[in-house]
Formats: sequence, C-alpha cells, structure tokens
Amino acid sequence: MTLMTSWVESANDAACPFPLNNLPYGVFSTNSLEPRCGVAIGDMILDMAAVEEARLIELADDPVFDVPYWNDVMELGPEAWEILRLRLMGLLHIDSTEQAAVAPHLVPMAEARMEMPLVVAEYTDFYAGKHHASNVGTMFRGAENALPPNWLHMPIGYNGRASSVVVSGTDIIRPNGQTKAPDANAPVFGPSKRLDIELEMGAIVGSASELGHPVTVAQADEMIFGYVLLNDWSARDIQAWEYQPLGPFQAKAFATSISPWIVTRAALEPFRTSTPARERDLLPYLQEPRPMLYDIALSVTLRPEGGEETTICETNYSEMYYSSAQQLAHHASSGCAMTPGDLLGSGTISGAGKHQRGCLLELTWGGEDPIDIGGGQTRSFIEDGDTLTLHGAAKGDGYTVGFGTCTSTIKPAVKFP
Ligand code: CA
Repeated sequence: MTLMTSWVESANDAACPFPLNNLPYGVFSTNSLEPRCGVAIGDMILDMAAVEEARLIELADDPVFDVPYWNDVMELGPEAWEILRLRLMGLLHIDSTEQAAVAPHLVPMAEARMEMPLVVAEYTDFYAGKHHASNVGTMFRGAENALPPNWLHMPIGYNGRASSVVVSGTDIIRPNGQTKAPDANAPVFGPSKRLDIELEMGAIVGSASELGHPVTVAQADEMIFGYVLLNDWSARDIQAWEYQPLGPFQAKAFATSISPWIVTRAALEPFRTSTPARERDLLPYLQEPRPMLYDIALSVTLRPEGGEETTICETNYSEMYYSSAQQLAHHASSGCAMTPGDLLGSGTISGAGKHQRGCLLELTWGGEDPIDIGGGQTRSFIEDGDTLTLHGAAKGDGYTVGFGTCTSTIKPAVKFP
C-alpha cells in the first residue's frame, strides 16, 4: 500500500496524519455549525451532514450524519461501513469528477472544535499487556507472583464507567478518595497524591452480539468499527488500598480520555501484525485465525505548566499479549451482549525497555526513581497543571495513518467535604 492522492493537497504529505488512506471519523462544531459528523482529510474536515443534505452520500433512508455521534452509522453494519469508505474515497480522490460539488463542504480543522465522536454505550478496560502486568505485579506482589495464575489464559478485564469517558482537550480534575499508607493505622480521605496515566488503545464495537450467544475471535474482529487512543487515568494510592478483592473502582472511575478521531479498522488493515508467541496455548475460543494486532507507534509527552513538552514514553501497540478481537470474544464468551458504541480499553501498552513503559507507576518504579522532564524538574506522579498527551500513528510506505492526539491538563482536586 502506498499513498493514495487526494485533490485536498494538504492530505498528500507523507507526514500528514489524515491522508486519503485514513479518513477517520469524528464529531466537530464551529462558531456557526452545531456538532455533527465529520471526516478528516488533510488539514480539513468534510462536513458529513452537509454532504448528506447535498445528496452526495446517501447511506440510509433517514439522515445519519446530522447528529453528534457515529452510533447511527455503526448500527447500519459492516456492509454500510464499506460502502461509506469507498464513496468517501471516490469523492476525495485526485481523479474525482465531483470536486466542485464537495469542496464547499470542507471546513478548516483550525476553525473546528472536536467533540466526543460517539455515545459510549459501556466501557470495559483490560489488563492485557504482559510487560505492564509483570511490572505492576512485581511492585504490588513481588516478582514470583507478578502474573496471576489466570493471566496467560485469558485477557483480564473489569467493567468501567461510560459516564466519565471524555474527549481529548477536556481538563481532568484530580480525584479525591480513600487511601491508606502501608505504615498507617487508618485510612484518610483527600486528593490523590499518586495520579497517573495509562497509555492504551480503545477499540470501538460497531456491531451487536446477541444476549446468551458467544462470538468467535474472527466474528469479534469484524464487529470492531475502529480504534482511538485512550488514556485510562489512574489514582495509584486509591487503587492500592481498594483493589482487592474485586479490582479497581474509584481509582479509575473518575476519568478516561479518548482521541477525537475514530480510525477505522479498514484504514488499519495494512498494519496488521501478530500477537507475540504464546507462553501457554490458549483455549480454542481465544485463538486467533489471523493477525489481529496493529503496528502503531505510540508515545506520551508531559508538559508542566509554563514549561516545555518532554517525551516520557515510546512504545508500540504490537507489544500487547491479547488483541482487541480476543478481548471482545472473551467478553461475549459468557453470553454477555455487546452493543454498538461499547468501548474496550486495551490495557496499558508497555514494551520491554524502561523508556517503553506506558504509565508513570512503571516509568518511576512506584515513585522510587523519578523521571527527568527537563527544565530542572522531575516527576514521580502527575502534578496539577501538567498536560499529558498521547500520540499514535501507523507508518506506511510514504504515508501515515495518524490518530491525532489525546491530551488533557490536570486541575486541582475539588475541596471536599
Ligand atoms: Ca487500564
């Protein structure tokens, strides 16, 4: 696969995250336009509500793009997703005969505000990166018990909160919660002192599964509409005190950020790659019939208030032990119904190297080894005013399929009580 050229010239640069090969889906508004569906092309956004009204694209009997979410398109199913992608490519291709009709519906990205791209039906987060699970397990339970006995047999997950999933650009308020220092006699309540990020990918489920009926890994892969960058904000001090025996609760319920552009599974097709070799054979219902991870370069930057941005982590989505398709198949294996708009967090994506660790807990080894962030400053955990940004892109031959960024700034905790 090479760069597909568009008459939108800014899309044809090898470094542009949004070439014709990508065409990610978002929701945007401007000073004069209400929130609506849009497609990124170069440094422009195609106003899909306007394109639909002009009858350049007719995907369903009723309009599906004049709303502030992509759920209606998801519910049309994989055949409609493919028709839409082919039609967009036709309209925006360098050889398109419809340029004059389409061009008036392009809005400069610089004039747009990005909104949540979907209504998140439910949010589930996994713990499916082996380097991360080994590092965190070593810190919490010692090296000998780092991986729980179930870990190599299934993707471990927990049900998170859809209500606190926010789009990139939304400030994050430091959570209050109950914590207990290991040497303290009693817990206290107050602002978290060990606030952290988790660098993850989010898979967006586009098709439903039926209550009571499992799906295969191959079917699960077909159900995935696309992927976003996901930051699973985590309060480590709250987590350490509350997590046994039912897993994280308030430590992760306060906020999850996602990037505004849904990069479709179709756009990522050239970047498929296999999960690492299995250390134990998986049960048949979890075995992958073909590669279902993706080669996506990921990084995290930290910018202190008034300071410069520093890269604190560089890794790759291909480091995961379980793919999103395996996670989705496992989720439905009991008969749990999956819904269009469900969001699955991959789990923290860490590589083997120290600079490849996807959260501060690992990067600073529980705060014992603070990292240098330049300007004479170090960090063990996140401080108020810090801006954390996730970056992600798949690199093709002379083109890039980018995710844009997922960025948030930390605001002080609410005084309570
Ligand atoms: Ca997580």
